[in-house]
Amino acid sequence: MSEFNLIAKYFTRPVQHADLGVGDDAALLRVAPRQQLAISADMLVAGTHFFHDASPYSIGWKSLAVNISDMAAMGAQPKWATLAIALPEVNEPWLAAFSKGFFACAQAFDVDLIGGDTTRGPLTLSIQIMGEVPLGQAIQRNGAKDGDDIWVSGIIGSAALGLAHLQAKVTLTEPTTTHCLNALTTPTPRVALGLALRGIANSCIDISDGLTADLNHILKASNLGAKLSLENIHCHDYLRAHLDDANIKQCILAGGDDYELLFTAPKSQRDYIQQLSQQLQLPLSLIGETTLQLGLTVTHHQQAVDITKKGFDHFG
Ligand code: ADP
Ligand code: MG
Repeated sequence: MSEFNLIAKYFTRPVQHADLGVGDDAALLRVAPRQQLAISADMLVAGTHFFHDASPYSIGWKSLAVNISDMAAMGAQPKWATLAIALPEVNEPWLAAFSKGFFACAQAFDVDLIGGDTTRGPLTLSIQIMGEVPLGQAIQRNGAKDGDDIWVSGIIGSAALGLAHLQAKVTLTEPTTTHCLNALTTPTPRVALGLALRGIANSCIDISDGLTADLNHILKASNLGAKLSLENIHCHDYLRAHLDDANIKQCILAGGDDYELLFTAPKSQRDYIQQLSQQLQLPLSLIGETTLQLGLTVTHHQQAVDITKKGFDHFG
């Protein structure tokens, strides 16, 4: 199969938000007036970011989902993506399933694939996502204020627990196994939440490297410290039941791959955020507050928790 047939068959779909999509030397799109273009890229390498034998459907879904998550974290509406892919061989069943997963995610979040590049090489995916945010309304990491509430969406630690299960570090039973593996392989980016937090949250980040590691990015950018209460972090019953285990604490605090939003907001927004949680049918947990005193302290029912182990760092 030629490169062009491959692109036509697996990577060309009608576009909603572009004047020209895949097929020419460049795509053409229009950014609405008074909007900023938000752009982010994420690369996934087989063996580093996913297992070589991972389901191609989930690789397709996740590679786009983690990029969309970056738009959510900025309060941007994701619209366009490009896909650069290196493939060791033309494996049509693999490509068909990958494409299905990728476009399932694209459709779920109304994102157009508008271009990319296809080459032979070790399995690698590089996706660029683009979105729109009204001028000046993006939610940045550096906007946290002293005394902000710290919130986190969804259920934390499940993806890390799923990974630990795949690595045979824990043995889960159903239905926990399915819940955790789904969290790991098909994360849901929190786009609706990100949009609703414009003008509400002072700062926001998506959790990719681990809750404390990502919170530290906000704290560093905002020149603040924070206190967190582990018992207020919403997690799966399995994790809750084993919270006295240091590894389980690590799973929640440093696990990563959750793609939930971690954000800070003034205390005056509590009611609004609790209503938002109802509206979106998404748990939003108040887990701590920012402080002028630098550094991060975590407690579990008033007992200090050791957080010296960091989130997953590819160069650590
Ligand atoms: P060129 O040689 O002009 O760079 P390519 O042959 O690389 O063109 O790509 C042809 C068209 O297919 C371009 O519009 C490009 O954006 C698109 N394309 C190539 N690979 C992909 C891919 N994996 N996903 C989506 N679009 C792709
Ligand atoms: Mg090219």
